[in-house]
Amino acid sequence: MTFMTTVPKNRIISDTELARAAAAGDRAALAAIYNRYASPLHAYCVGMLRDRHAASDCVQEVFCIATTELPKLRNADKLRPWLYAIARRNALRALSDRRREAACDELPDDAATGPGPFTLTAQNELRQLIAQAAGGLSERDRHVLELAYRHGVTGIELAQALGISHDSTKKLLQRLRDTVERSLGALLVARRAPQNGCPQLAADLSGWDQQFTVLMRKRIARHIESCSTCDEYRRSALNAVAMLGGGVLDKL
Ligand SMILES: [Zn+2]
Repeated sequence: MTFMTTVPKNRIISDTELARAAAAGDRAALAAIYNRYASPLHAYCVGMLRDRHAASDCVQEVFCIATTELPKLRNADKLRPWLYAIARRNALRALSDRRREAACDELPDDAATGPGPFTLTAQNELRQLIAQAAGGLSERDRHVLELAYRHGVTGIELAQALGISHDSTKKLLQRLRDTVERSLGALLVARRAPQNGCPQLAADLSGWDQQFTVLMRKRIARHIESCSTCDEYRRSALNAVAMLGGGVLDKL
């Protein structure tokens, strides 16, 4: 499994070039940074956390932060140590959270050494995320998502399954893709509300049971429209998810 990127593979591009381009908003450069560092950062986080899933969370977080903070990186040639520093900070925080939660829980021995490439874990994470975001969709959209995304029914087959024309199916999928993206955006913002520096949303969501519904999606989406902090986070989080999924949403 490889990640999609438009950066040509036959030319070695320096970290410095990538960092500058990504800081200027070049998504392909961001994806290239991800391709270059997601796996080593994941291995690094596994080493600290001894847990592949926690490490995946950590790496996702690193790229969310990196996407937002890259423009502030003064020395573009320091990309590599900078990414590792973010990873280290995140892993340390995850460790202290874990210690607080369960001081004497034994960790399974195979957690750190189990097989399976990083991408597999990342795709699992994304699948769970999309499953949760699906809670913010209408019943019909959810049904189409289930067919197209989970069962891989697409094209003419999907049109037949839905009993509509191929053209209508294409339009439906286009709309669904937008809705899923909006729903994912709202979910990602909501999940990070307490840490995100938006006191208003954090207050709105205090006591939220993590159930993501159509009503929640609309409430959060309305807030994002009027809040630049949350909107900026939504953008970078979606970028990170798009990279994590390796174009999985595009397959819809
Ligand atoms: Zn906000």
